Amino acid sequence: MRSINVNKVSKKGLNIHVVASPEDGELVNSIIVESQNKLVIIDVPLLNPYSKELREYTDSLGKPIDRVIITHFHPDHWAGLEYFADLPIYSLREVQDEIKNSGDWALSFHRPIHGDLITDKIIVPTNIIEEGSLEVDEVEYNILKIVDAEMRFMLAIEIPSIKTLIAQDLLYNKVFLYLGEKTSKGELCCDSWIEKLVEIKNNGYEVVIPGHGEVSDASLFDINIEYLKTAKEFILASNSGSELKEKLIRKYPDYRVPLLLDVENYLLFPQSV
Ligand SMILES: [Zn+2]
Repeated sequence: MRSINVNKVSKKGLNIHVVASPEDGELVNSIIVESQNKLVIIDVPLLNPYSKELREYTDSLGKPIDRVIITHFHPDHWAGLEYFADLPIYSLREVQDEIKNSGDWALSFHRPIHGDLITDKIIVPTNIIEEGSLEVDEVEYNILKIVDAEMRFMLAIEIPSIKTLIAQDLLYNKVFLYLGEKTSKGELCCDSWIEKLVEIKNNGYEVVIPGHGEVSDASLFDINIEYLKTAKEFILASNSGSELKEKLIRKYPDYRVPLLLDVENYLLFPQSV
């Protein structure tokens, strides 16, 4: 039996397979864009068993994999790359550097929790992707480079022909947003992240695929903006990580993966988690 959960969105001859890891894999989404002759993979799971299943599922589609694109440095989007090491792997130059220089440090946060399910092989992206238009198998992808949101450098990917945004961690759906990173100015990420969301929220997206949680639509923008405003107030008014966690769980009782709050607290409240 498969552990990953696949949800397929089909529009105008394109199939987008949204492959969700289970809760212990942070409900992270890996995406397969299936066009007529090729497959493009966007992000791979945190935990090895789910990444192996993603590769098996991808291979079962029976089309060549053109490339893997990694959106950002958080390991739930690249740790499983050992199952894709035979392919061209693309990321921003900054993300390639982060994985090369700090990948092992990033995985060290997860090893105490997941043990052997986390890889001990760090695969660094081999190719650089730039922002702007990219064509694969006659499908146009528009690569958006986002700075200072959930992470300092990240990608979101538009497929204009089907009004779809593969937002990855620019948006979450009913999963606790990870707010542990500071901006390049050393500030809390919330305000800068909100600015990026406001910039693109009216681009006419009909399908919005978040990095964690179920596929949705453009309504996710306002839901995430509200969360970020609330969470910022809570962070500023809390004296410890446990106080912040309790407030967020009380305010958002149906949100999942509270583990993300523990990881963020480690960085937000290093003295008193
Ligand atoms: Zn993530």
